[in-house]
Amino acid sequence: MTLLAAEGLVKRFGGVLAAKDVSFALDAGEMLAIIGPNGAGKSTTFNMVGGQLRPDGGRVMLEGRDVTGMPPRTVCRMGVGRTFQVAQTFLSFTVIGNVQMALIAHHGQTRKLLGDAMAMHRAEALTLLDRVGMAAQAERPIGELAYGDVKRVELAIALAAAPRLLLMDEPTAGMAPSERAALMALVAGIAREQRIGVLFTEHDMDAVFAHADRILVLVRGEIIARGTPEEVRNDPEVQRVYLGH
Ligand code: ADP
Ligand code: MG
Repeated sequence: MTLLAAEGLVKRFGGVLAAKDVSFALDAGEMLAIIGPNGAGKSTTFNMVGGQLRPDGGRVMLEGRDVTGMPPRTVCRMGVGRTFQVAQTFLSFTVIGNVQMALIAHHGQTRKLLGDAMAMHRAEALTLLDRVGMAAQAERPIGELAYGDVKRVELAIALAAAPRLLLMDEPTAGMAPSERAALMALVAGIAREQRIGVLFTEHDMDAVFAHADRILVLVRGEIIARGTPEEVRNDPEVQRVYLGH
């Protein structure tokens, strides 16, 4: 079954048509990139899928169920994760503590004694940290980590909710190019291995072309091209409008 289907999404902000008939589908285990210049409507599209914005038209279907206009917590409970920046208040917490808290939140054990609930999720938290290459730094306060490592922990925190769809709006913003490529490779590996669908945007075109299975090109709220990296790279319209050739 199709994991995510966006059907004719429309969003207006006053006179600005931020999304105009945006349609696409995404399957489990697939990496779908949305690229386009600033202001193209990428974040708007993410926010309509994640429930942060209600579309003015169209539908969002998740595993065949209409989730259009549902609030983010409901969409999240239905298996849609996104990477959020670690809240400032948790910076003094250890890396593993942050992941344990995310597991507690996911399992709805907020009424248990915190120490008991934390202990219960220690092994699972370590497994998640190991998967993102951060197990060796489990006991460090998250606030001490390098920026790229914080991003890896944020990914582990997102995975703690066992998402079937992961929304990543510029996950590598602010990272050095080498860190960027490594994070995208990590996400792609996890997506394939755990059959998680990933919808992402990314400024680094090398990372997009290396890891996306398919690409949508959005310009002024409209999809002007779509296809495999090869097809999109060779699309004359894309070269003219977006890549500036
Ligand atoms: P992108 O993520 O591709 O850079 P956005 O989705 O953030 O683009 O923005 C698309 C268009 O919608 C832009 O013209 C932007 O100024 C406008 N826009 C986005 N969010 C809002 C908002 N909350 N209020 C008014 N205009 C918005
Ligand atoms: Mg954006």
